[in-house]
Formats: sequence, structure tokens, C-alpha cells
Amino acid sequence: MQWNCKRCDFELVEVRKDTIAEIIESLKPNFLSLSKSWKSHKSEWIKVCPRCDSYTLGMEMEQGFPIRTKSGDRTTIHNLDFVKAHKHHDNREEILKSEKCGCFYCLEIFSPDKIFEWHGEDENGIEQIAMCPECGIDSVIGSASGYPIERNFLSKMHDFWMGPYEGFKARRASPVN
Ligand SMILES: [Zn+2]
Ligand SMILES: [Zn+2]
Repeated sequence: MQWNCKRCDFELVEVRKDTIAEIIESLKPNFLSLSKSWKSHKSEWIKVCPRCDSYTLGMEMEQGFPIRTKSGDRTTIHNLDFVKAHKHHDNREEILKSEKCGCFYCLEIFSPDKIFEWHGEDENGIEQIAMCPECGIDSVIGSASGYPIERNFLSKMHDFWMGPYEGFKARRASPVN
């Protein structure tokens, strides 16, 4: 069985048929990665792409719909590691105390003392978001976050966050319901 999205090649997750029915009923989404013949599949679990269909899986909801990963973990879109790791890109203290940092835009790995530019002042006037010393994009996380600072993981973050990001903004701009 194919575990990569036909549209974008991202690793798929599985959603139960009754959950899919619930999603369609409540969000009436444009389900981009859902097979047209999903209802007639033998399995109760249907594969969908968390990247193409992040909105549909509840990315912008308080609580996402239940999904199952390739390794069998029951989770939601918010709790996938490459989604959770993104929260760590605006934490100056954590970035600076990291042994190494990585950029999920250009995938370079470097020591935090290479960072020379920050932005995103917090209420105390301290800039929390590091600009990558290699590419200048604000997509830096540190190893103190607990997430693996290695190319595979950064590349997964890149594919998830850099691809559909424009799409999120467009959806936000248009009223939902
Ligand atoms: Zn996809
Ligand atoms: Zn970079």
C-alpha cells in the first residue's frame, strides 16, 4: 500500500471512515487527497495527506480529528512532531541554550552563536525569533526543543510548513461558513 501522497509526496496518515463522514458533514471541505472511492474501500482506515488536507484534518480547530500515523500512533494533526516542533521557532532562550540549531527553510545546521539577527519582540522588548544565518529566513529551531536537529526532520518540517502556508493565509482571508 502506498504511503506517499500522489499530489505532493508527503507521508500519508489514516483516518477512520466514520471520522471522514463526520469531517465532510461538519466542514464540507475540499478534500484534496481523499480517494473518490473511499466508501468502497475494504479497510475502515482511509489514507489522506496531512499536508494537502491539514485544514480538513482540523489544523485551524481547537482540537483536530483523530488520525493514525504510518507507525500506528493514534494522534491528531496538532500532535504530529513536525507540527509541534514549529512552536519552538520563537523561543530565544531555548535556541541560545541549544547545542545546535537547524533551519527548516534551507535545512542548514549551525551553532546558535552563528545567529546574528532576531526579530519578533515580546512584551519585554526581547526579540524571540532567530533569522537563519545561512538563508535569512525566520525558520530556526534548536536542539533544546527536544526535536531532532537533522536534515530528515527539518526537511519534513519544510515540506509541511513551507508548502501549504500560503494556502492557510488564503483560507483565513475568506470567511468560513
Ligand atoms: Zn499531499
Ligand atoms: Zn536557513
